[in-house]
Amino acid sequence: MVNRMPPGPTDDAEAIVVGGGPAGSTLAALLAERGHRVLLLDKTAFPRHKACSDYVNPEGTRLLGALGLAGEIAALGAHAVAAMQVHAPAGAAFLADFHAAEAGRRAIGLTRRKLDALLLERAVAAGVEVRQHSHVRDVRVERGRVVGVAATVDGVREELRAPLVVGADGRASIVSRALGLDIENRLLRRTGLVAHYRGARGLDAWGEMHVHAHGYAGLAPLEEGLTNVAFVSDAAAVATKPGSLADYFEAGLAQMPAVAEKLAGAERVGPIRGVGPMAHRTRRAAGSGYLLVGDAAGFLDPFTGDGVADALRGALLAAPIASAALRAGDVSAAALVPYRAARRRAFWAKRQVAWLVQGFILSPVLMDYAAPRLASRPGVARTLAGVLGSFEPAQRALSPLFLARLLRP
Ligand SMILES: Cc1cc2nc3c(=O)[nH]c(=O)nc-3n(C[C@H](O)[C@H](O)[C@H](O)COP(=O)(O)OP(=O)(O)OC[C@H]3O[C@@H](n4cnc5c(N)ncnc54)[C@H](O)[C@@H]3O)c2cc1C
Repeated sequence: MVNRMPPGPTDDAEAIVVGGGPAGSTLAALLAERGHRVLLLDKTAFPRHKACSDYVNPEGTRLLGALGLAGEIAALGAHAVAAMQVHAPAGAAFLADFHAAEAGRRAIGLTRRKLDALLLERAVAAGVEVRQHSHVRDVRVERGRVVGVAATVDGVREELRAPLVVGADGRASIVSRALGLDIENRLLRRTGLVAHYRGARGLDAWGEMHVHAHGYAGLAPLEEGLTNVAFVSDAAAVATKPGSLADYFEAGLAQMPAVAEKLAGAERVGPIRGVGPMAHRTRRAAGSGYLLVGDAAGFLDPFTGDGVADALRGALLAAPIASAALRAGDVSAAALVPYRAARRRAFWAKRQVAWLVQGFILSPVLMDYAAPRLASRPGVARTLAGVLGSFEPAQRALSPLFLARLLRP
């Protein structure tokens, strides 16, 4: 039997979740399944687009299955992605083959419009009250404790209260900012631009990443013959571009002959969407009366394709801790410390790998050196595939032995 803490007389719910992306919908559903009264607010209306490469890495794909969504994901036409092919600036390429690293492992390509709507439907089915067109503008704090939010709901200003406020509101999280937790990343200031294409050639079993001196491109096969095309480059260059965004995007892709070849004759369908600068972190992911999950808790760069998987993982880490805190009637910073510790254990090593990968991306010579070695050293490539797919411990790619096997002449 679920021992549910009744909300106080002035509370609108036990938990207010700000944001209905993968992190927010999943955590809201998991809390509702544990018997809690959850209110989810999102400023948009679903289905909605999200600037993303629409790729869910193998661990994220497994987590979607563990959430009971494998059938629905297949019914939506998700494209199976068995590997990622990574191209270095001078042209050498290697395959990070998930299936070769562990039989049955695969990623998927599925538009976020479909994936996020599915996750939100799951939250509604679990009993979450979802209010769309609900834009959270501020966080209410009383005696050092977060007690609710101020939102514009369908154009009307409302004050909403709950013992726990979850910031699942993505990269530009108002919850993180209002609490003074957001820290810009000064080292990595990149903007990601994405668009959908129809008619790209030669992409089926795997997606591709192409690294160039001025950025990188990603190609991901999706449902219904669509391809997600991403171009990631310096945020300042995007902000000061002389012409249109489309001109900048297309010129960036044209610099990479292997990408241009894949897109020859393909047609862009829909607008170019962008986010930038993307990288940021937060001072802490939980405190008195609040916690942050998904991109709101920090994001580095999309190259390693971790975002959706980490959003799901973060929700799974938060749910039992938040539920226990609500049941005990204690959502103090101390009660939520285990969530911060769990996040460190789950994400720290992979974050170091992501930084290591950035080192290669930012140094074309190093990338050109490593790519042919990875192509001719299947054991090393398998370990890297497992780490990139988040189904092998990230520590394996940080070990001196692995790096020596990768970098020896
Ligand atoms: C260019 C680019 C490419 C990427 N490619 C990939 C990829 O291929 N694979 C991958 O795994 N990850 C990728 N990512 C990262 C991935 O998109 C994120 O990690 C993921 O979306 C995080 O999910 P989330 O639920 O935390 O936030 P989001 O998906 O951003 O959802 C946040 C939600 O909060 C709502 N919201 C925001 N502010 C408010 C507010 N004030 N009030 C109410 N609601 C609000 C928004 O409407 C939105 O629905 C990419 C990111 C970028 C920028």
